[in-house]
Amino acid sequence: MISQDMSSPLEAPVCRRCGMCCLRGGPTLMVEDAPRLVGGVLTLESLVCLRVGEWARDDARGELRPLEKEHIKVAGLGGQAHPWRCRYYRDGSGCAIYAQRPVQCSALFCMDTAPLETLLGSEPLLDRAGALKALGGEAQLPGFPDLNAGTRALLPDLIAAHEEQSLVAPVLEAAARLGFTPRGTQGYGEGMEEGEERQALLGDLGEAVRADAAFRQLCVERAGVPAALLPFLLGRPLQDLLAEVGLRPTSSATEEN
Ligand code: SF4
Ligand code: SF4
Repeated sequence: MISQDMSSPLEAPVCRRCGMCCLRGGPTLMVEDAPRLVGGVLTLESLVCLRVGEWARDDARGELRPLEKEHIKVAGLGGQAHPWRCRYYRDGSGCAIYAQRPVQCSALFCMDTAPLETLLGSEPLLDRAGALKALGGEAQLPGFPDLNAGTRALLPDLIAAHEEQSLVAPVLEAAARLGFTPRGTQGYGEGMEEGEERQALLGDLGEAVRADAAFRQLCVERAGVPAALLPFLLGRPLQDLLAEVGLRPTSSATEEN
């Protein structure tokens, strides 16, 4: 539990660097963070794109809501206790990149969220196009020295083609119509489909999952995209996003938990 040090009522509370916020999740990146990509402090391999329509916590409203803009986030390490634990957090020693930590980390203070809210309200978020543009002048993509120029030139087109084919929002909206939303959300699962419409929707979701998986496979096998780059390039698979809300598609059909 985080508690304020009350040893002197005249002293303003300060960050104790307990790391709890780092365990709960790494930052999303702002345009101002682009130099950290160019310098190799953050590599694309360490990032994941959260796409429009994905469920994410809106700290200002204190609730989960579908994202209205894409976010680039430091990818979590998985695991039961803290699945979004920042990969740069080290037990015992704290942030491995503290001197060059992302701007949201510098602004975040759990006892006073005003600086972070000001930052989020005044500065633009970094998106995939912005990140690739920032890296455009680099001879090699940091973290991927063997990526050939032809594949690298294809990356923006692959993002665009995937967005055209495999949007997140309609898939998670369809899941919500079937009654599958994250725990603690209200109002998104109303008007649940029944009968034939429900079966049709389940079939559509299974097809969307298959198309997304096939696109990813083509990127790796035909276009030569390193698999480690896919979370940044295409975000998380639709299959994983549906599993998060309790729908587990299979190769032949979509099964409900
Ligand atoms: S801002 Fe983070 S590291 Fe600092 S006291 Fe709060 S939870 Fe701990
Ligand atoms: S980059 Fe550093 S300060 Fe920011 S969440 Fe990760 S470990 Fe914490």
